[in-house]
Amino acid sequence: ERFEEAPLHPVMLRNVKLAGYEIPTPIQRYCIPAILDGHDLLSCAQTGSGKTAAFLVPILSKLMGKASSLAAPRPVPGSTGPYVAQPLVLVVAPTRELATQIFDESRRFCYRSKLRPCVVYGGADTVTQRMELRKGCDVIVGTPGRLTDFIERGRVLSLKRLKHVSFPLIARCLKLFVVIDEADEMLDMGFEPQVRRLLQSSGGLVSANRGLDANEDDDQQVLMFSATFQKPIRKLARDFLSDDFIQIK
Ligand code: AMP
Repeated sequence: ERFEEAPLHPVMLRNVKLAGYEIPTPIQRYCIPAILDGHDLLSCAQTGSGKTAAFLVPILSKLMGKASSLAAPRPVPGSTGPYVAQPLVLVVAPTRELATQIFDESRRFCYRSKLRPCVVYGGADTVTQRMELRKGCDVIVGTPGRLTDFIERGRVLSLKRLKHVSFPLIARCLKLFVVIDEADEMLDMGFEPQVRRLLQSSGGLVSANRGLDANEDDDQQVLMFSATFQKPIRKLARDFLSDDFIQIK
């Protein structure tokens, strides 16, 4: 099997080729079609398995396929007034190192598209990170603490879907992609409250309400990756993934 066999956007296929990837890894073979089909998923994933591309390739490919007006709202050039970045994709990772790796891979896959990735993490100056967000942000990668900080206190980042878009039809077909990477690591590090708050502020409702219309019109698609499927991970998945989520062992 090759990447060309999946219905990926031509810009994405070119970027995959530029990255030197020819044969999808097993996790990519399972995840790419499931994500393209709009499913939520809980996937077992070890580092080095190619899990980053397994979610970035289908998500970014789907966004490239939408109208060119899709890029998240940009700040008015030259303005210094308040601006809240409203990304289309949120990737939460436990450490600065992993967040940076995912960001680097996002840049590769966003090449020659209108999509702009940003990364935020703790232990670094917030001014530079805010300035980057102000240049526009379609894909936000970050650690749980800094992300919740920017959303809840900084008011520079919002996970509410494109409230200001003036084309309701386009806004309706948009949803936020939420990726929780190395979920088990994040829970082990004590980030469960932040991860739950991020899932909630992205419009995620706790089960009962989700799953009823878990289709393309749903307001978000949630993808969770974890090396282990312990009880707290399964509970997190039950609370935030649609009822018909796909589990990949
Ligand atoms: P990850 O598990 O996402 O950290 O990826 C591990 C390494 O494999 C990274 O250096 C990727 O650039 C590389 N990689 C991911 N997918 C492929 C692929 N299909 N072919 C070759 N290398 C890949």
